Amino acid sequence: MKKIIIANWKMNPQSQQEALELVGAIRNGIDSQHPNHPMGHCVNTDIVFCPPFVFMEKIKQVLNRSKIALGAQNVFYENSGTFTGEISAQMLKDMGCECVILGHSERKRCFFESMEDVNKKIISVLKAEMIPVVCLGDESSADENEKLNGVDDQLEIVLQNIPKEKLNKIIFVYEPAWAISDGKKPSTVLPSSNDVLSAKLLVQKFLSSIIGKKKASMAKIIYGGSVNSKNVAEYIGDSLMDGALVGGASLRAKEFIKIIKIVEDMKC
Ligand code: PEP
Repeated sequence: MKKIIIANWKMNPQSQQEALELVGAIRNGIDSQHPNHPMGHCVNTDIVFCPPFVFMEKIKQVLNRSKIALGAQNVFYENSGTFTGEISAQMLKDMGCECVILGHSERKRCFFESMEDVNKKIISVLKAEMIPVVCLGDESSADENEKLNGVDDQLEIVLQNIPKEKLNKIIFVYEPAWAISDGKKPSTVLPSSNDVLSAKLLVQKFLSSIIGKKKASMAKIIYGGSVNSKNVAEYIGDSLMDGALVGGASLRAKEFIKIIKIVEDMKC
């Protein structure tokens, strides 16, 4: 199975110029690793950039014909209407987005998004034929008895009324809130590879009670939280996670290219 690396730029960078320079530098770096297949072509890795909405149109032009996909960081669940400041799934689809990050802990903390909101957003993203990238893991601390606390309940709520046959379209992210970087430095506490494996098994177990063991074992489950070139190999690998959601490190072209190279060189 191909690994997936999703770059979550959050509210960065500060100008369109910088955004285009970043995309250009990353794409050139990837192309130089695959001189026979330029255009951001990777063999083992799918790459998605999730920039702020205002940069999407231009970035889409730069990514034109490349293998790198465009994603969004959020969406509203209604189709249209009197919702000042909001953007619908259909608008994102029309823009060329292929996936949408949902339920990020920063959206819950800063904008009071609930898991019920996330559930409605998943339904609207699936309806627009995009991939929901659903974040799980609101544990308040890295305390042993806090780890994975509430993930089952989160799954119960976010997957309500989602048709069984659509479950395999969702990418699940185990992203413990305490492991997220400040954008520059990694968090001082990080989960072990065993912790992320436990998260993967928990999500698979939950899914297998709905769609059976075989289908559940094929679900895409990735890790997010302070991923960089030093730790990515610890989290992604053979029986570990299917990819990573990368925040701070995705804003540093050289570092992001290094991450992609490490993942590319892994045996899948
Ligand atoms: C994130 O918050 O989605 C994230 C992956 O951030 P970071 O890699 O900076 O911890």
